Formats: sequence, C-alpha cells, structure tokens
Amino acid sequence: MEIEELKAKLRTTGVVGAGGAGFPTYAKLSSAAEVVILNSAECEPLLRVDRQLSKHYTEEILKALELIVLTLKAEKGIFAIKSEYKEAIASLKAVIYKFRNIEIKILENVYPAGDEVVLVYEATGKIVPEGSIPIAVGVVVVNTETVLNVYNSVFLDKPVTDKYVTITGEVNKPTTIKVPIGTSIMECIELAGGTKLENFKIILGGPMTGRIGSLEEVITKTSKAIIILPEEHSIILKRQTRSSIKINRAMSVCSQCRMCTDLCPRYLLGHNIQPHRIMNALANGLTSDIAAFTSASLCCGCGICENYACYQGLAPSSIIGELKVRLKEKGVKNTPSKIVSKVNLMREGRKVPMERLIARLGLTKYNINADLVDELYNAHKVVIKLSQHIGAPAITKVNVGDLVNVGDLIGEIEEGKLGTNIHASISGEITKVDKKAITIEARGDING
Ligand code: SF4
Ligand code: SF4
Repeated sequence: MEIEELKAKLRTTGVVGAGGAGFPTYAKLSSAAEVVILNSAECEPLLRVDRQLSKHYTEEILKALELIVLTLKAEKGIFAIKSEYKEAIASLKAVIYKFRNIEIKILENVYPAGDEVVLVYEATGKIVPEGSIPIAVGVVVVNTETVLNVYNSVFLDKPVTDKYVTITGEVNKPTTIKVPIGTSIMECIELAGGTKLENFKIILGGPMTGRIGSLEEVITKTSKAIIILPEEHSIILKRQTRSSIKINRAMSVCSQCRMCTDLCPRYLLGHNIQPHRIMNALANGLTSDIAAFTSASLCCGCGICENYACYQGLAPSSIIGELKVRLKEKGVKNTPSKIVSKVNLMREGRKVPMERLIARLGLTKYNINADLVDELYNAHKVVIKLSQHIGAPAITKVNVGDLVNVGDLIGEIEEGKLGTNIHASISGEITKVDKKAITIEARGDING
C-alpha cells in the first residue's frame, strides 16, 4: 500500500489517536520513517485498555503494525509493552515469529513509560530534540487501540464507531467495556455495576492527566477511562483548587528544593524544562527570566512534579499547564535549544515506579483487574460530537428524521483541513442536529 492510499483510507474511516489528544492518524503517518513504535505502555495508573487489546487482538494489531511499517518503508516495528502485562506478552510471543520486521521491547513498570519522548528513548536510544516530535529522529509512535482501528479500517473497511473504556474506582464491578461512540458516561458506569457511593466525582481519563467530568458527558474517540472517586479524595480536591490559590501557595511555600525538576522525565532526557525555576520566577515576579516562562511549552503535562515529587503539595504541573495556554493565546513561542540533549546521569535512579506512584496517589485499593467485556453495548441513544479531537470539527451530513445504519457517514471533514470523518455508531433515526453534536436514537425497524 502507498502512503497516500493509507492516509486517504484512515481519514475517511475516522481513525485518530485513541488516547490523549486524538491527533488524526493519517497526519501522523504522512511520511517515511525508520522505526514505528507501537505504544502499549498504557501510561496512566488503573487503565487497562491497551494491555487487554494486546492480549485479545494480538495478531490483528501485529498485522496492522506490519502494514504501517511496510507503508512507511521503515526498517522495523517495535511492540513496546510493560513487563507487568504478562498475559499480553505471552500472546505476543506466541505469534511474533510470523512478523519478521517486528520486535518486542519490554518496558519497566514506571511512569510515564508511555510518554512519546520517553518511549522513543527507551525503545531506540534516540532523544527527540526539545520542542520536537518523534519523526524528527525518524520514529513514529502509534497507540495500541489506534492500530487496532487501522486494522479495522484497512482490512475490514470498518470506520471507527466504538470505543474501549476502563470503568474503575468506586464501582461495583470494575470493567473494560466496548461501547458505541456517543454513549453517555452514566450508562458506562451502570455497565460496571453502578457506583458504590452516593456522593462521588468522575475523572475522565487517567488519574494523572484526566479531568473532572460529569454524568451527562459522552464517550468520544479519545475516551480511555472513567474513574469514580469519593468527593473528598485528594485527586479531586487538588483538581478543584482554584489557580489563584495554587499560585499563592507557590509564592509562600515553595522552598526551591528542586525535587520537581530532578524527577521531571523530560528534564532527565536533557530538555531544558525546570519546573522549580518556573515556580521561582512566578513566586518572585522574576519577569526578567522570560526563558523560565517560555520553557513551559516543553512540559508534557505528565504531572510527576505535582503528584509525586513536590513534598509541599504544590501544583507546578497545573500552573505550567495554565502558563502554556496563556503563552499560546499570546502567540509567545519558546526558542528550542540547539544543543543536542544529553541524558541526565541520574536518570536511571530517578524513574518513578508505578506501584509507588499509585500508593502516593491514594489509589492502591483501586489497582485491581478491570476485565474486558468484549461484547458491544447495545446503546439506545448516542450523542456524537462533531469535534472529538485535535483538528477541525466535522460538517454535518444528515438532517433530523434521516435513518442511518451503523457505519454510515454523518459528518465529513472539509477538504484541506486537519480532521477526520465521523460515522453513525448505532442504527436509528437522527433526532437532533446542532452545532456541536448529532443525536441518534435506535428504532426497532432499523435495529431489527
Ligand atoms: S518540589 Fe515543590 S517545593 Fe520543591 S521546588 Fe518544586 S514546587 Fe518548590
Ligand atoms: S508535568 Fe512536571 S514533571 Fe511532567 S514534564 Fe511537565 S514539568 Fe516535567
């Protein structure tokens, strides 16, 4: 297959990064590469999707990875997976001999093993230059579920219409489910046996980088996990703290111990991101230290500095996150260093073990299996957002009253714009169309 053919296929079938910000996959696979890394590190605590898909869909994922490797004319593919995912590794070892251009890389169970820059270093020994992306060193990184969607797209001609999501925390039966895109968060929680608590909060995504969500929200192409926590859990309280309070605390309490910097995974790879310096500049009004502020753009938002390193309970990661937004709004850019990054000599000893991180987050009791129920949930109503990921929103192609089947095109991306098409995730009638979403309700005569 030629690159342009693959790109067109992935664009029309709506394949985007299935975790994180959801960068359209066709745009990521747009040029030749030396190495393609399949990221099955599942970076965040408690999440279970990637390891389960790696176990249950090993051959499909390998077949799609092989296709990407051949299409990008890469020398090899690397299936990067954590040592802890023993069942997935066993499945992988049983069939990897069929794929001569793919090797397995076993990763340590540390956080954030799945961060692209960290992963590229661990899997290839190459350092992505600061402010750059993996293709700068000839590497493309793709997520496990994304590659399964590539398989569905290319080999089965199936667009992206459903999503695997881990439901865990204070639910009666932690489970990894498969649901149509647009299913409500409330229904997903019911599929995991409902909550154990009357008063709870929801984290959408992982505990390190996810956000507080609501029952009324819906599953999108980038949903990965729903974590139910008590309202008073420290993760919730931290996220609810106002930025002004976070900044006041930084001004009065930060001791400049620099633990946040010493444990920062990007700093340890030689990038010039030093959270303690940003905190100092902020706390002391050091406006002359412009570089400290602009270096915020080098932060990957992993949250180590805030949730693990800082013994004072300060919030460097949140503050840096806000700073990044403000700098972007003002069009202020960081000037990346021209000096080639060198790995910090202390890096090995400063890796953050997952178990210790989970304990520090107060999540040990939730760190249990969330087995996969691989039967697609029969949703009766879905609300499919026109904008679900990075890029332009899709343009509606349907009207209220139209009847659609699963997989029908309902939203199209404009020619020349970054983005992908969206498709009906259930069969039924279009009952609402607005600027943000398309609602489909199942009808007996269509669903049969
Ligand atoms: S770890 Fe906390 S106290 Fe130490 S420098 Fe960083 S923000 Fe300040
Ligand atoms: S969140 Fe903190 S630890 Fe992570 S990359 Fe940003 S500054 Fe470094």
